[in-house]
Amino acid sequence: MNNYKRIFKYVKPYIKPLVTANVFTILVVIFSLLSVMMIFPFMDLLFNESPNQIPAKEVTSVFDLKDFIIVYFSKILLQYDKLDVLKYLCILIFLTFFLKNLFSYLQTYFMSVVEQGILKDIRKDLYDHYLELPLSFYTDERKGNLISRLINDVQIIKDSLIAVLNSLFRDPPTIITFSVVLFLFNWKLTLIIFLMAPVTAFILSKIGNSLKRSSQKSQEKISDITATLDETLGAVRVVKAFGMEEYEKQKFENENNSYFLLLVKIFRKRALASPISEIIGVFTIVIILFIFGTDIIKGQSDMTPGAFIFYLAVFFQMMPSLKLFGQMFNSYKEGTAASERVFKLIDTKSDIVNLPDAKILKDFETCIEFQDASFKYDKSEMILRNINLKINKGSIIAIVGPSGAGKSTLVDLIPRFYDTTSGKLLIDGSDIKTLQIESLRSKMGIVTQETILFNDTVKKNIAYGKAEIPDEKIIEAARAANAHVFIDKLDKGYETVIGDRGIKLSGGERQRLSIARALLKNPPILILDEATSSLDTESEILVQEAIERLMHGRTSIVIAHRLSTVRNADTIVVLNKGEIIETGNHDALIKNESMYKKLYNLQFRHQEESV
Ligand code: ATP
Repeated sequence: MNNYKRIFKYVKPYIKPLVTANVFTILVVIFSLLSVMMIFPFMDLLFNESPNQIPAKEVTSVFDLKDFIIVYFSKILLQYDKLDVLKYLCILIFLTFFLKNLFSYLQTYFMSVVEQGILKDIRKDLYDHYLELPLSFYTDERKGNLISRLINDVQIIKDSLIAVLNSLFRDPPTIITFSVVLFLFNWKLTLIIFLMAPVTAFILSKIGNSLKRSSQKSQEKISDITATLDETLGAVRVVKAFGMEEYEKQKFENENNSYFLLLVKIFRKRALASPISEIIGVFTIVIILFIFGTDIIKGQSDMTPGAFIFYLAVFFQMMPSLKLFGQMFNSYKEGTAASERVFKLIDTKSDIVNLPDAKILKDFETCIEFQDASFKYDKSEMILRNINLKINKGSIIAIVGPSGAGKSTLVDLIPRFYDTTSGKLLIDGSDIKTLQIESLRSKMGIVTQETILFNDTVKKNIAYGKAEIPDEKIIEAARAANAHVFIDKLDKGYETVIGDRGIKLSGGERQRLSIARALLKNPPILILDEATSSLDTESEILVQEAIERLMHGRTSIVIAHRLSTVRNADTIVVLNKGEIIETGNHDALIKNESMYKKLYNLQFRHQEESV
């Protein structure tokens, strides 16, 4: 129940329309009853069953409802012409039904804001939370699962909550009002009918529990399907290149099939609730018919046909409410399962957060310093060990080392994508954990190997993170990044949409766009992971020039794969198995039989030869 209670928090902002909607619900209930009540005098009028004079027995209490209606209706009949009464009755019946439907529409009208609003708010909270979660969270979770929570689970929560809210406000008042009427009409019979209720409730709760389990499984399945879809479509080029279409089709079909089987099971179970409650309802009606019928045949009934039909009509009107009230418990169970999954995510807390008294880093002034810093990922062994490194403002640091040495991990610590496991990382003498994260990251430009572009226009990609920026500034950045010429040749220039992850651009063009983005941000610190894949010479020169312009006047930390970068670096840091084993400039390091020399021969030598 706990998680489900938390959903009610989302109802709060919509109390007004919710209350308004439910005022209309109550009106609908009243008018449904009235519309049925009209039948009673109408039938008796037509079949001339009502006495031509007021019955001898005076009705003193409204609790004798049947006689109460008969007596008062007879009084009216005696005063007016029958045809006139018929006319007024017809108008009244039409009006009652008209108002009942109008109120029913108004109920939905106000309820739509509540429904869609709750859906929107839960999605927003979940999405906001996704962006707050640390990077480490994303390495453990499949992206598709997260998408599925946001789309499918939130929808189920909303459906369940609305079913519960609607039912709570509509069904109990309907059931209570109609039951009171039935009791007042014939309490003995009604008592027999109500003895059936616990049986129905028991059967429905069994179905509900089983539905909750299946719903949990089906959500896991749809989550898997979304994840598979996301991964396959994201890697469609590789799938095609390796001729893996059939394999991927088969994989998808397996998941799709088991989802299908589960859904069929759920729909069948869910569908059980309605016929079961209806059969029990009909069984009850049969009892009513039998008891009434026996009385009529034996001549012991004091009911007019109108009263008899009225009793049945009230019961029929109450049946959908009884059914929906029963189904509400199933919706509640399905909603509980979905809310457990969603709140589990919302309760995942980020450990990389601003301290309450976090300082704002106004400017980067002196240096970045690793002090005995070590780091390990959640379940890994130590990836970085006792790193001591000082990066002075304005210097260029090249980080080199074999694959898996920990280069990317090292630079990820600077913008606080991860926190050191032990030791410290200082900026201008302050531990970065004491600085406000946004102010820290605003001082950094990050250009990764994998150029991260969005499926948007060139302009928006360059100006990412800068809402109000004049076009001239964007063009200026593009020129400096050697990107203006190719952008100009595109279909719609700066307004061209570049496709998913910039798929419509070449590798070099993508790199230059992300360099333009970093240039526009103009941060004092640059973190650059040079691309390993080599471009053709012309493109390489353009990218190289752009990078040099980008590094100019900044403090640059570069995971270096280019000869020119290591040559120009003030300090080269050689990382091996998570430890710094050598530091110095190119000339100093190349002289010794160093690891750097080996790497240089392996990695950079051929670049020297090709120049
Ligand atoms: P490359 O040059 O190949 O990119 P690198 O020197 O940048 O390598 P890192 O990416 O920092 O190396 O990885 C260092 C080690 O950390 C590797 O052994 C890798 O398997 C491990 N590692 C990287 N990311 C994670 C992660 N999210 N969770 C657990 N281990 C990780």
